[in-house]
Formats: sequence, C-alpha cells, structure tokens
Amino acid sequence: MMADARSYAASLVEESLGLVRGQLDDALRQDLVDELSSVMRGAHPDDVGRPFIEERMLSVLSEVRERALERDGFFARKARWPNAAAFAVCLTHDVDNVSHPASHIWKTRSRFGAADLIGGLLGVVRLYDNVRMISKKEGEHGFRSSFYFMSANYPLSRVRKASDAIRDGGWDVGLHGDFGTHDSPEKMNEALSRFSAGLGFRPNGLREHYLKFDFGKSWELMEDAGFDYDTTVGTNDRLGYRLGLASPFHPPGPDWTPLNLLEIPLTLMDTTLWGYLKRTEEEGFSDCIRFVETAEKTEGLLTLLWHQEAVRMRGGRVYWKLLQEFKTRGCYVASGSQVAHWWRVRSLPMVRDGRLIRLEGDPPKDLVIRLELAEGREPTVRSGTVEGRGSSRSVRPKRGFELEVS
Ligand SMILES: [Zn+2]
Repeated sequence: MMADARSYAASLVEESLGLVRGQLDDALRQDLVDELSSVMRGAHPDDVGRPFIEERMLSVLSEVRERALERDGFFARKARWPNAAAFAVCLTHDVDNVSHPASHIWKTRSRFGAADLIGGLLGVVRLYDNVRMISKKEGEHGFRSSFYFMSANYPLSRVRKASDAIRDGGWDVGLHGDFGTHDSPEKMNEALSRFSAGLGFRPNGLREHYLKFDFGKSWELMEDAGFDYDTTVGTNDRLGYRLGLASPFHPPGPDWTPLNLLEIPLTLMDTTLWGYLKRTEEEGFSDCIRFVETAEKTEGLLTLLWHQEAVRMRGGRVYWKLLQEFKTRGCYVASGSQVAHWWRVRSLPMVRDGRLIRLEGDPPKDLVIRLELAEGREPTVRSGTVEGRGSSRSVRPKRGFELEVS
C-alpha cells in the first residue's frame, strides 16, 4: 500500500485512541493531518505548554463516539493504559556522571545537606551515584524506571554491578547517547559496542544527551541500530510537548511508513526547572503537578527525566515528593521499556465483523475495553467479563473475545 501523510496520521490516531479499525473515517480532518505531519518533520510549535495534537485527537474521539452511538447504538474503544488507569507516568534517569572530584563538591557545597556534604568530601558518600538509592525508593512504591548509561563519560565497569542488580529487579537499562550518536551511524555503533562490552547486553531504549535530535536523520538511525524505543524528543529550555503529543507513537519514515521504533515523547526534565527556568523547589513542584493534571485530563503520558546525580541536591530531592504524588493519584507508573511493551501489545487490532466486535490476537492481561451504550442497548460478551451498569461499562476481554450489542 502506498503510504502518505494522511494514512500515517490515520494509523497514529486510530492506535492512539484505541478505535475499532476503520472507524475514524472522515472524522480525521485535513488540518489535523497537516499539523501532525509538520511537527513530525520538525516544525517548532509556538506553544509547547499544551499537548495540542492530543487535544485535537480528543475532539476527534468525541465526534467518532457521538456518531457511533447514533448509528450503531454503542461505542467501544481500548483504554489507553493497563487496567484503564486515568493516565500514565514514565520514570527515566539519565546517568551523565557518577562522580565528581572533591573540588567540584566544595564549589557546589550549598546544594547539599550537611551530612551528605561531609560524607561526600570525606569520600564515604558517593553523592553523584544514586542508582541503587533511587531504584530502592521507587521499588518501595511498586514502581520501575529506566536508567540510561553513557558509554564514554565514565568506565562502565563502575556501574556494571548496579546495572546487573537493577535489571534483575525489573528496571530498564538503556543507552544515553554521546555527542554525535544522534546523526552519525558510526558514532552510534561505537557507543553501542562500548555499552555492550561494558554492561553485557544490547540496550533496547535510548535517550540522547542534551536531547540532541535531527528530524531528518535520528529516528531512522535509531531504527537501523535496532532500538525498541527512543525517548529523546522534548525541549531543553521549556517544559512540555515538543510534538504536541502526550502518548507514544511510531515515528514516520521518509515515505510516511510508520517505523517499528516507538517514540516516547519527553515532557519534563529536572534541569529545565532549576537551570533554565530558575524555579524554587516549591515552584518546580507545582510545575510538575500542572503537567500531572494535563496528563489526567488527556488520558496522557507524562514522561519525566530526572537526572540520577541530582537527587541528593536542592531541587533534585523534589523527586521523592513526586513519587509519593504518583502513588496517591493511582496512575500507571512504568519504565520506558514497560511503556513501550504495553503500547505494542495494546495495539492488537480491534475489528468489526458484521454485528460483532473482535480482537485480532490474544488480548494482553490488563487491557480494558470501554463500552458506551445508547439507551436500551445491552451487550453480550463472549469470553470476557463486563463491569459496571447503565450506559458505561468496562469490558475485560479474554482469548476468543467477541462483543455484540443488541
Ligand atoms: Zn545527558
């Protein structure tokens, strides 16, 4: 099939909203296709503070929903997140450094608490190596996250033990690109060889250093290097949605064929708060909550980049409060590889076959189908369970699932 921007946009929107195949029809307006294709080719939006594409997709959703309720008497869509969680948070940490000399510690002494500072200067506390501490605290909340190790900045032998231990516990370890890996396949191959030699496996996930990204080259280079997902596309100097999206997607190739690679767009980076925007801890925390609330409103994903070397410092320690907040709000919290895995298994097609709705393949365990019914309609579900009553139901499909509404 010939790919073009329109069919690319249609497949992205259909997958993102979890629609029955083909249901989008002409609800996909050309101006949304144009907007989406221009950001995918690198156009810089005026306002990254709002997930503008996500918001437009939600209005497409309400149009498709209304039309289906009127025409078919029901509307079914796959919930975005496991167990129909209201929104999702992807926790990620770049590992630019794991140590600094005592002179650096002394120069930046005002950032640390007294005990850490003394311990750091005496060499008994490793102030900038917090991989185990972070994973331990995340684990206490039942969370997993991603750590991206750089292959040229420090000997990977120094982090091998921590990497092995956290991977055993279900954490995701990926590559933090070096300068040049975003646009040079040679540089990328060198970094991958160093990474594999040092840590003993090939990484599935990637984040480029300084969020270096070339819209004409990087995604294909990442695809060719065999990555499962990337989470680089974001902004350094502002918070928000470089692409207007708060959900994963398959980036387009040069001819608009979707790549196999998944992009998990970055929303918020700690160094933007303290470095570029000069926020106080209180202000930085409220900025984070503002993005949590945007995610809640759009069933969206908040991808958080929190540098591991910063969590003992003023500013960086806000991370512990954020973990508590995510726990309280009951969202889906996951590492990059977990988010990518979920997005892939959730993408199994939901199709209409005469009066029946079916899934092509075995549904993942935590998939929920949201079902809305017009007045007087009742669903019959074969192989699956239905929760709720009235016009709004949650269906948990099992192998061999079929839905019919009469
Ligand atoms: Zn970096």
